[in-house]
Amino acid sequence: MLINKYSMGIGDRFGHEGEAQLAALIAAKDKGIEVVPVWNKSFREHSIIGTKPESLRAEADAAVKSLGWKLPYFVDADHVGLKTIDHFMAASNFFTIDVADFSGHPASPESIETFVKKHRDMAGTLNIPGIAAPLKITEEQIRAIATKFLLAVQEAGKVYRHIEAAKGNGNFVPEVSMDETDLPQSPLDMLFILRALADEGVPAQTIAPKFSGRFNKGVDYVGNVAQFEKEFGDDLAVIAYAVKNFGFPANLKLSVHSGSDKFSIYPAIHRAIKKSGAGLHVKTAGTTWLEEVIGLAEAGGDALAMAQDFYAKCFERIDELSKPYATVIDIDRAKLPKPEEVKKWTGAKFAATLRHDQKCPDFNLHFRQLIHVSFKVAAEAGPAYLDMLKKHRAIIAKGVTENLLTRHILPIFEEK
Ligand SMILES: [Zn+2]
Repeated sequence: MLINKYSMGIGDRFGHEGEAQLAALIAAKDKGIEVVPVWNKSFREHSIIGTKPESLRAEADAAVKSLGWKLPYFVDADHVGLKTIDHFMAASNFFTIDVADFSGHPASPESIETFVKKHRDMAGTLNIPGIAAPLKITEEQIRAIATKFLLAVQEAGKVYRHIEAAKGNGNFVPEVSMDETDLPQSPLDMLFILRALADEGVPAQTIAPKFSGRFNKGVDYVGNVAQFEKEFGDDLAVIAYAVKNFGFPANLKLSVHSGSDKFSIYPAIHRAIKKSGAGLHVKTAGTTWLEEVIGLAEAGGDALAMAQDFYAKCFERIDELSKPYATVIDIDRAKLPKPEEVKKWTGAKFAATLRHDQKCPDFNLHFRQLIHVSFKVAAEAGPAYLDMLKKHRAIIAKGVTENLLTRHILPIFEEK
């Protein structure tokens, strides 16, 4: 099972927007842009909402059937490790093997020395097509990289073999992710991480590094865009080199996690993939939930009152709700509106404050990040929330489709 050149991770916390999401991919396909869906939901999200991976599989199957989608589609066991993987085994055919927690912790000294000895021949001057200057690599650097990342790669090998034993060789798409850490990986790190993954026999089809800069949830990139573009281009070159020289599947590609709303780097990503011909996986994660809240606000009446009530809860419980996401948000509490004030807002004002339109003076990225991480308050509302989603399906679906298509798929993938 090989994943297509372009794919998009689409998270749907409450499982009601599968068709609206798929509609965006169908609209893209009608324009000649082939991007396949990967429905993703992590163990943490399933636990908070009280769903099981089977429900995501059912949602994906139903959307595909209802809209007549003929291309492949995938259901992601998102950010799994040995502790959580078994819950996802039956329902998933894409596995994001998350070994970030193991990076920065050294493997055994013997395995590090074995790795260094085995790949000593890569020291010296290494020419990688697509990287401007030849890489100058010392044995010390190889040892330093192995010390930082070899344990994580060994863990990826364990998880991969566990999945392979259950699903059978070639019956699933393996991704290796190391993004949820404070330790960014340079293109040189990536070269040796891929070398080590090949040694471990992990036929990764996508790899999600931590790039430099901030990839906060649901808001734009914060960092040096020119530096990102160079790093991203070099990563693509390293991947092409690894495919040719380390024996990875030919479709191995980069995966950009927390990739939604990173508007300032989309032009760079677009240029890099079009120039190199490389594939790409972009994960949009949880912004579909924000489109639901925007839709409720716009619907007005009881639905707006519910959105305002959610915000009051978010504001009150900010410590609890933001804690699990501390490394991927930057909320300035002084810039959050008071719930009493938000209670007086119109639906249009609420929607404009939340919707990610940087040109709109009402847009507030602190408000947006707080609501992004607070889907638990909607989960607690239970059927009352789900009924509201059903009642205002049309207005919400329009927002979900438009957000994916016009703010994400077209800027990243469309030929210009
Ligand atoms: Zn991630």
